[in-house]
Parts: sequence; C-alpha cells; structure tokens
Amino acid sequence: MSRAATAIIHLDAICQNYRLAKQIGQGRGTLAVVKANAYGHGAAQVAHKLHNEADAYAVACIEEALELRQSGITKPILLLEGFFTPDEIPLISEHQFWCALHCQEQLDMLARTPLPTPLSVWLKLDTGMHRLGFRSDQILNRYPEITRLSQVKDVTLMTHLACADELSSPMTGKQITELRRLEQQLKLPSSIANSAGVLAHPDSLSDWQRPGIMLYGASPFAMAETLPYTLHTTMTLQSEIIAIHDLQPGDSVGYGATWVCDRPMRVGTVAMGYADGYPRHAGNGTPVWVAGQQSQLVGRVSMDMLTVDITGRDDVGLGAPVELWGKHVNAGTVAEHAGTIPYTLFTGVTARVKKRYQD
Ligand SMILES: *Cc1c(COP(=O)(O)O)cnc(C)c1O
Repeated sequence: MSRAATAIIHLDAICQNYRLAKQIGQGRGTLAVVKANAYGHGAAQVAHKLHNEADAYAVACIEEALELRQSGITKPILLLEGFFTPDEIPLISEHQFWCALHCQEQLDMLARTPLPTPLSVWLKLDTGMHRLGFRSDQILNRYPEITRLSQVKDVTLMTHLACADELSSPMTGKQITELRRLEQQLKLPSSIANSAGVLAHPDSLSDWQRPGIMLYGASPFAMAETLPYTLHTTMTLQSEIIAIHDLQPGDSVGYGATWVCDRPMRVGTVAMGYADGYPRHAGNGTPVWVAGQQSQLVGRVSMDMLTVDITGRDDVGLGAPVELWGKHVNAGTVAEHAGTIPYTLFTGVTARVKKRYQD
C-alpha cells in the first residue's frame, strides 16, 4: 500500500528518439543532452541506456558530469557552460570533459592553470541570444592566443539558437549565417542545432547536434505545429483516484471554489498535486486520462491532489488509474493549458514521485 504517484520512464523510447536525431543529422555527431537529470528522467539511467549509441553527452555543470562518470559513463561529456570557478579546471582535464569557453574570464582562468592533459574546447559564439558567448570579432582577435595555449587540444565552434522554435523567425537564419562565416574563416568543426534546429532547420545541421527535449518525446514547437517526425513518449506521469464525490448544481470544488457545478456531477480526487510537479496553473479543462478515457481537470490543483470530472463514468471507482501526461495526454498540451512548456513539466517532477524504469 502506498501513494500511487509514479513517473514511468520509457527508456527504449528515449533510444528511438535519439536514433531519429542521429538519422536527421545524417549520422553526424549527436550529443545526448542529459542536463537537469536528463530533463527529469534520471541522468544515469538515460545515459547508460544510450551508452552503445550516443556519441557523447552534454550537461550544464561539472557536478552533473561527475555524477555520470561515477555511474560508469566513459564517453565524452560536454560542459555546456564550461567551468564557473578555476578549481574545476584540473577535474575537467582529469576526466577529459569537453568544455565550453564563453567569456574572457574563463579564458584567463584557463591560461593560468597548468594542465597535464589539454582540453577539447567548445568556443561559444554569441550570435544573438546574448546570454553566453564571445562576439565574432572577439573570437577572431583571441583565436591565435587560444590555439597557442598548451591547455587547449582542439576547438569546436558552437552557438545557440534563440528562436528556432518559431518557424518563421528571421533570427535563426541570421544566427546560422554568422556562425558559418566564422567557421569558414577559422576552419573549425561546429555545433548549432538544439532540438528545434534538428527538427525544423536543416541548415543548422552541422558536425555536432545538441538535441535535448526531443529525446524526451516532446516537441519544442507549439502544439498547433505538426511535426514531420514521430517522437516517442518517454514519461508517463500517473496516479489513482482516491475519492469520489457526487455533487449537485451549485456545489463547488477545491480551493477558492473556482469550479461550481452547473449540473449534477461526479468528481474524482486524484493523488497528484503541485508538490509532485503537476503544474498548479493548469486550468479547468486540462485533459486528464482516467481509466482509458479522456477526462478533464475541474477546480484548482492543490499541493497533493487534483480533481477531475468523471460524470457518467460508472466504470470509474476508487483506485482507477489516471494518466496526467504520457501516451494519451501529450505533455505539451498540459503545458499549454498551464501557460508553460514541457521542459518545465519534465524537470519539475519532484522526488516524492516514484520513478519506474521500463524498456
Ligand atoms: C539545453 C541546451 C540544448 C538542448 O536544447 P533543447 O531545446 O532541449 O533541444 C542545446 N544546447 C544548449 C547550449 C543548451 O543549453
């Protein structure tokens, strides 16, 4: 006996999605982005499942990279933001992590740190995101100095797309053009595409792709966009009905009494709330799958529970299975109902939710 809130992780689906990214990239290098605990799926489990296929992995910081190494992952791991403090540099060298270099301060720290083995550096070009990276002219000025450093083994040029999920944005083309210009001047391998790039911008395909969200079965685009590819669902967030109430017109449901019945209704209470990572801002009408049929959220999501409309569902009793997102309810649809994106849903599933791995 225990609370039923569970995230089922479909590891085979992650493999299939990785293979799709690799295939779209026509076999060129494809980093499996497993930062943020593999978007909430469990970084070590995902990395091991992909170990025979992934060319390399990408994470946000050295703690995430070390966790993978300690779990036995031997493939290269890219630190997407490089190091934050100089004490990380010897560890990066020891474990042969690939290392983004995005600012002068990092370059200075690296130059001051003698290393037994040099690093593969991913030099970040800011093409318009204005978050991390050097400008083109800064890279051209510093490149001779960078290549002279004994700490640098080789250099890959990387940039990040700001608007690749907006299919008609002119920004993407401009960003790609700027990177290509520098790539040709310096004759370096390059990396541009995130998932949106892989799925919708063939001109962003390069020596290395960096797909994240598509590995986890969610589209980076608005739900109204039809994808030319099939992504496989990788996470099923599920629970059970723990209480049922037959209500009369005028009865309200939940905090703030924001749902008021306008007819006789049967409402089921589900053991899943915002403390599990289900978005509190999901409104009335958000789809929920109850015992094999689509139902919908009524009333506010509370910390540990939410309520669904099961009017006319005589088949639904206590213990009936509920899918919050998964194969029947698209996480992207839930995200849109909550005014967010599937990235925050996946990374927001909390430790209280049991994870169960399936092939
Ligand atoms: C997170 C991240 C990615 C992956 O982005 P998705 O939209 O999840 O595919 C790629 N590149 C960088 C630099 C990132 O930070």
